[in-house]
Amino acid sequence: MLMKKTVQCLGRIVRDCFRVYPLFAAAVFASETVNAAAGILNPVLLALAGGHGLGERNFILAVVWYGVCIVLPSVTEVINGSLTEVAKVRGEKYFGRQMFVFSEKLRLEALEDPKVLDSFQKADSAVRRGGIQFEVLNGVIATAGALAGCVGTMAVVGRYSPLLAVSGAVGMLPALLSKMYFEKLMTRLRRRQSRITRQCGYFWGLFSDREAVKEMRVMGFEAFMKAKWQDLNIKRVREIREVQLDTGKKQAAGIFVQNLFSALNIGLAFYLMARGKISVGEFAACISAFAVYESCMVRAIVNYFDVAGKYHIAEDYYDYFTVPTEAEGSMEYRPFQEKVTAENVHFWYCGSDREALQGLNLEIKKGEHVVIVGENGSGKTTLSKLLAGAYLPCGGEIRFDGQSTEELKRSGLYAHVSVVSQDFMRYLFTLRENIGISALNRMSDTERMEALTKQVLDGAFLEKTGGLDVQLGREFGGVELSGGEWQKVAIARGLWKESDLIILDEPTSALDPLVEYEILCRFVEMTNGKTSVIISHRVGICRTADKIIVMKDGRVQECGRHEELLHAGGEYARLWTAQAKWYP
Ligand code: ADP
Repeated sequence: MLMKKTVQCLGRIVRDCFRVYPLFAAAVFASETVNAAAGILNPVLLALAGGHGLGERNFILAVVWYGVCIVLPSVTEVINGSLTEVAKVRGEKYFGRQMFVFSEKLRLEALEDPKVLDSFQKADSAVRRGGIQFEVLNGVIATAGALAGCVGTMAVVGRYSPLLAVSGAVGMLPALLSKMYFEKLMTRLRRRQSRITRQCGYFWGLFSDREAVKEMRVMGFEAFMKAKWQDLNIKRVREIREVQLDTGKKQAAGIFVQNLFSALNIGLAFYLMARGKISVGEFAACISAFAVYESCMVRAIVNYFDVAGKYHIAEDYYDYFTVPTEAEGSMEYRPFQEKVTAENVHFWYCGSDREALQGLNLEIKKGEHVVIVGENGSGKTTLSKLLAGAYLPCGGEIRFDGQSTEELKRSGLYAHVSVVSQDFMRYLFTLRENIGISALNRMSDTERMEALTKQVLDGAFLEKTGGLDVQLGREFGGVELSGGEWQKVAIARGLWKESDLIILDEPTSALDPLVEYEILCRFVEMTNGKTSVIISHRVGICRTADKIIVMKDGRVQECGRHEELLHAGGEYARLWTAQAKWYP
């Protein structure tokens, strides 16, 4: 099973290498093949020379061969040295693109799963290494070449005495095993540390985030953050050091045994010569074969373990591509004419032991303005993701007329649904791009976009910022917007996409209730005649709603219009009474 996986992975590495850098790969492949052949041929030539001589013709061939052995690897080394950076950039681009294309197909639910995020981190670090696949290919051929050298030299030594060959091979075993042990522990550790590495990356991201830096400095928890980051790093380094200390002793013992056997081998060869079993020339050939053998063996071990470490990184890269992708339904989406329904919907997040939605039922008629309210954690955001088709229910159905989101082609559904979430993005692009990216085909319709901008933001906004084509965000020398203005830009982006259903998931929750209320009223006006869902934990906008859905513990607790629900005196009435003072 493991073997099959390794063979498959190596196959993909070879395929990708020849795809990404064909010339480079071919040159290195040729040079390493010559190296490998030299491993076998050179000791044989040495044995022939030490024995009965080569003869004039063979001597010339041997000289030519040695010339190739010297020139080709040095030429490849030059190519290698000068193209490594190019190959790295090329590799990063190719493997990064593969990852990006694959990530687009991932189930959005999977992005909530820490295991998927760990797998992403490992694949991402492989991509950042640029040519890791290439290094693996290189290393595999180099290891094979060095091993061929070991076999060749052992054959030569074995010709004089089988005992010499056996003791030469055995002497390297402890060094080999200790290195093997080290690599095994290091790979295990690297994989175990992927979460802590991600956490360190998260901290680093905070330290380079303008807003986070401002907050930590002004609020005075800079030192706390630094200490937390340092603790993580210390833990990381300590774990590495423990492995290195543990394996270091074993490696030292391995090298000691290796040297002991080297001395024994030389002593044995000397003994054979003294007893007249081998000639002085053969003794010299033997000693030189030992030296070649040892250097080949060391090269094989070093290359093997170097390549094994890199192989695991490449394997992690390919493992990422086994994360489940989005199950694309087969049905084309048809714009709904009557209603969107949720029927006994259940949903739980990967790794969570609690259901976020517990048998939820609701109905949204075409053209209705629906407001979903409820306290934090009641499942509103989760519901909005399911309504948008971003997540599929774990039980029950979300239907657009009769069409279940499970059966629909998700891309078709996404094209007709617009979501403005509380974690909306602030793109450091122009204002036009910030709004227009949700419907690229109309991006250049300046008149329409200006009209929308004036409706969502106030009339003076365009004048103040300098028009649609002004760069936003200070980071790239653009105009900085206030938090509220960024929120309005996100809403404009949501409206720019002409959709059958638009969902506003509390993008304005950070604003004070009255400002939020004004923005939402404007949104309701602008979406008149369209189907819209506003999610909020504040009830101000509910008076304008065709339907209010009150959520609690992942279920619909109440449903109706403002007056009905007030009259019923339940959860909605409670929320309204608590919040009414905020609204005119
Ligand atoms: P609301 O929008 O009403 O505040 P959510 O839909 O965000 O509620 O959350 C509903 C429940 O699901 C909560 O118990 C929350 O802790 C849980 N939850 C939300 N997001 C995740 C997640 N990514 N992983 C695990 N549990 C989550």
